[in-house]
Amino acid sequence: MKEIVIATNNQGKLKELKEILAEYELLTLNDVNCKIEVEEDQETFEGNSKKKAKEISKVTGKPAIADDSGLCIEAFQGWPGVYTARFLGEKASQEERNQAILEKMKNLKGKQRKAKVVCVITYCENGKCILAKGEIEGKIAIEPRGENGFGFDSIFELDNGKTYAQLSEREKNTMSHRKRAIENLKKQLTSQ
Ligand code: IMP
Repeated sequence: MKEIVIATNNQGKLKELKEILAEYELLTLNDVNCKIEVEEDQETFEGNSKKKAKEISKVTGKPAIADDSGLCIEAFQGWPGVYTARFLGEKASQEERNQAILEKMKNLKGKQRKAKVVCVITYCENGKCILAKGEIEGKIAIEPRGENGFGFDSIFELDNGKTYAQLSEREKNTMSHRKRAIENLKKQLTSQ
């Protein structure tokens, strides 16, 4: 079985990847005893995921996969985008970030609340990289709803009116931005 190092120790992401890339042996950074932290300092999701995958592949000597994702709000030209995890600094909580977004949008209605979530996954092997993107469109909810998930799940509302956090983990994983990106990557890997 071909081994691929996944640039994450996040069990949720690993589970999603394992389901779709079942024909590969996926190793976490812990599995290969890799302690490096690659700084996400690029201006695009593509740049960050490629930087991480390239670096991890180089250090471990194995094929590697890395992703970068975030929330892009149309009224703010895609903000917070690559800054989704850190636009209030490193110390803020997720709840504070979600509240800050809701506050910034408090006067926006209907279509003005349009947003999308994006995930870019990069696979690198011997210095060659394949990029795959997954997106899902929706809007920012008026207030947080739902108990499941993590991150901005409670404020991202899908076209069916539910937030990501109102879906079960299974429901979310069958249609999420990350799932779309992983499927897209798998297509490219199997057509090689
Ligand atoms: P990362 O690229 O996966 O590290 O995520 C960047 C930011 O987006 C972090 O603040 C995550 O919490 C958030 N994020 C990534 N994926 C999701 C998701 O599926 N739901 C909610 N938030 C997410």
